[in-house]
Amino acid sequence: MDSNCLITVRDVSKNYKRRKALNNISFDVKKGEVLGIIGPNGAGKTTMISLLATINKPESGKIHIFGEDILKNPEKVRASLGYVPQETALYPMLTAYENLDFWGGIYGVDNKLKKEKINKVLQLLRLEDRKNDKVRTFSGGMKKRLNIAASLLHDPDILIMDEPTAGVDILSRATITELVLDLKNSGRTIIITSHHIDDLEHLCDKILVLREGSLLYSGSAADILKATGNDNLEQLMLKLEEA
Ligand code: ATP
Repeated sequence: MDSNCLITVRDVSKNYKRRKALNNISFDVKKGEVLGIIGPNGAGKTTMISLLATINKPESGKIHIFGEDILKNPEKVRASLGYVPQETALYPMLTAYENLDFWGGIYGVDNKLKKEKINKVLQLLRLEDRKNDKVRTFSGGMKKRLNIAASLLHDPDILIMDEPTAGVDILSRATITELVLDLKNSGRTIIITSHHIDDLEHLCDKILVLREGSLLYSGSAADILKATGNDNLEQLMLKLEEA
């Protein structure tokens, strides 16, 4: 095992009843890398993310994070993981601040530091001016940003994001993209899925291309484009969707 690798995934398969969602997937992620997972609908992106986030288990294969087998010791790695699910997990009748207070409790943030941490993540996601507003008054993009803010409360080393920019306004999308870059620059390791392929092409050090549960390509965007003879990843995705 390469000692630089923070995450190693080896021969991982996942079935839902008889449907194979992932088929013998292997890859590595180094500390500080941004890994993008792309592929047509049903490719297995969310399933892969859910295994890494320790909310789902594979039928076979191994996943190590910080050298820990996450199937044996999920609790040990959870403290270092921030997870942004596809669906936002927020209480509409609570304010942004109250929602973060709740999530701070779930993530075990020290009570003495909670206020400071909440204000910091609100600022990072450009939501300070809405902190006392109820979430039911928020746009989709603001809810998404608040969910990302919640995932950062415990300063995780690894951030796992499932479609963080899906269905959000242009301002939220830009804020989220900038945040990913800032987190990368501060040494965080990030795993992200998105249908905004052009964002990923610029953000990611490494890309996995999945289709129907199989890993078709992995490498830098430039390597994948060279290997497949495409001008950009959007073009590759269109071909995969049509095939
Ligand atoms: P999308 O781009 O549409 O979000 P995806 O690449 O994230 O797709 P997954 O959601 O991981 O794909 O699904 C992979 C396969 O597993 C699909 O065939 C899907 O129908 C199936 N699947 C996913 N979740 C379940 C589930 N809970 N029960 C049964 N089948 C499932």
